[in-house]
Amino acid sequence: LERRVSQAQKMQTLGQMTGGIAHDFNNILMGISGVIELLASPRPHPRRLELLGQAGRSVERGGRLVRQLLAFSGRQPLRTTCLDVNQVILAMTNDLITPSLGGAISVQLLLEPGLWPLLADQTEFEAGLLNLAVNARDAMPEGGSLVISTANLTLETGPAEGMPPGDYVLLSVADNGEGMPAEVMARAFDPFFTTKGVGVGTGLGLSQVYGFARQSGGTAQIRSAPGLGTTVMLFLPRGRPDSEGERTVTAVAGDAKP
Ligand code: ADP
Repeated sequence: LERRVSQAQKMQTLGQMTGGIAHDFNNILMGISGVIELLASPRPHPRRLELLGQAGRSVERGGRLVRQLLAFSGRQPLRTTCLDVNQVILAMTNDLITPSLGGAISVQLLLEPGLWPLLADQTEFEAGLLNLAVNARDAMPEGGSLVISTANLTLETGPAEGMPPGDYVLLSVADNGEGMPAEVMARAFDPFFTTKGVGVGTGLGLSQVYGFARQSGGTAQIRSAPGLGTTVMLFLPRGRPDSEGERTVTAVAGDAKP
C-alpha cells in the first residue's frame, strides 16, 4: 500500500509539474502569436519595434524554459572546458545581466585577479549565473544592489560533507532584496519549488545552479535573511587543465560521446 501511495504522490507531482510547464509554454506561445497577428496587417503597426522586442523576449523565455528542462532531465551533453570565470562574468554582465536588470538595480563586480580556472561547462555556468541574477532581480522589485564576486579559497575542510579539502573557486551572488524565510530556504534548491506562482516561476533556476555545482565537483549554499537579502555561494574545485584536459561527457548513462 505504501508503495502505491508514494507512486500516486509521484504521479500527482508529475501531473502538477507538466501542467505548470504546459501552462507557461502556452502563455509564451500566445504572446508570440498575438504579436504575429498584430504585425500581419498590411499597414505597418506604429508600435512595431516594441512588439518585436516583446516577441523576442518571449522566444528567449521559451528557450530558457526548454534549456532548464533539458538540464533537469540530464539529457544535455556537457562540454567541460577550462573556464576563465572572471572573463565569462564580465562578458555576461555587459551583454545580458545589466541590460536585463533595469535601471533601479546597481551591479558591482568584485573579481579576484589571477582567479584559478575551472573545468566546467560554460553554457551551464552562464545559465546558472543568469538564473541567480534573475532571482536577485525578482527579489528587488524596488531596486537594490547586486554584487557578483569571485575568490580563490584554500579550504582545510571540504565545503560540504564528502568533499575534499583543497583549492576552490568561490563564486558568490549577493542581493539586498527581500530574502527568504527559513522554510523557503530549506526547499529553494528543490526542482519545481517556486513561490512565484504558476506561469511566473518554474522552480528550476536554483535546482539548475545546484546541479551545475555538483556536476562540476562542487557544491552550492544559500545565506539569506528576510528583509536583508540573499547570497548564493558556489564552491567549485580549482581546475587542473594539464591533468584532465578538455572532455565531453553526457549525463545520460550509455549515451556518452568519445
Ligand atoms: P523560480 O525563480 O522559478 O521561482 P528558483 O529555483 O530559482 O525558481 O527559486 C526558488 C525559490 O527560491 C523562488 O521562488 C524564491 O522564493 C526563492 N528565491 C530564489 N532566489 C532568491 C533570492 N535571491 N531572494 C529571495 N528569494 C529567492
